[in-house]
Amino acid sequence: MEGELFLLKDSKGRAFLVRLRPGGVFHHHKGSVPHEAILRAGPGGVVETHLGEPLSVHRPTLEEYVLHMRRSATPTYPKDASAMVALLDLAPGMRVLEAGTGSGGLTLFLARAVGKEGLVESYEKRPHHLKQAEENIRAFWQVENVRFHAQGLEEATLAPESFHGVALDLMEPWKVLPKAAEALMPDRFLVAYLPNITQVLETVRAAEGLPLRLERVLEVGWREWEIRLPVAHPRFQQVGHTAFLVAFRRWKAS
Ligand code: SAM
Repeated sequence: MEGELFLLKDSKGRAFLVRLRPGGVFHHHKGSVPHEAILRAGPGGVVETHLGEPLSVHRPTLEEYVLHMRRSATPTYPKDASAMVALLDLAPGMRVLEAGTGSGGLTLFLARAVGKEGLVESYEKRPHHLKQAEENIRAFWQVENVRFHAQGLEEATLAPESFHGVALDLMEPWKVLPKAAEALMPDRFLVAYLPNITQVLETVRAAEGLPLRLERVLEVGWREWEIRLPVAHPRFQQVGHTAFLVAFRRWKAS
């Protein structure tokens, strides 16, 4: 039981991430439930709080986990993380370079995409962010395919053309671009997650003079609908702007 992860959903659809421990109790504003009862109900089951509120019991999906896990830095939004996996064209067995690790949200998407034969080398310059990321990743993902590095990517020693992809989610990607470009294999992708268009422009400018060709800049739209028949319309509250995704492709060094 110790450490098992569950997601509970109440009748309003609110979700709560719970890590079970012997003797533990989950508290909801409509009553409490012992962790033993959650374990007995199991994934797909239902428990009731002592005040009669039904809570459905689930194994958290990766999206649910990233949205509800503890955070030191804001995680890459799951819709964008999954698009980054697609833009990076990741497959099992590949090696990916990542910076910064932050809370480990994007790392989990990358680690799942490359699988147990693959590897994610993740750099984070703030030690307390890295500690939180390691905890988050180990709690969800039991495969040992992530190597953590407590340093800025610009200080890393990397073999040239050794990664199938580079994923960047940091404030000033232009500072690490030369190092990242050199470590990327020819014809493979570097994708940066950038909340501001000014960051996009600065990154594109920094790529000039490097063996990187700008492939595309995009935003990922994700419009949720409210369906409670006969009600059916787009949700009034949506996730607004998260970030721009900027994808570069590596030229062969001449
Ligand atoms: N993608 C992460 C996630 O899903 O949890 C969130 C990344 S967070 C927005 C940005 C992180 O980059 C911060 O933790 C910051 O300390 C780190 N960072 C900034 N510059 C860096 C650099 N040059 N090298 C490594 N990490 C860096």
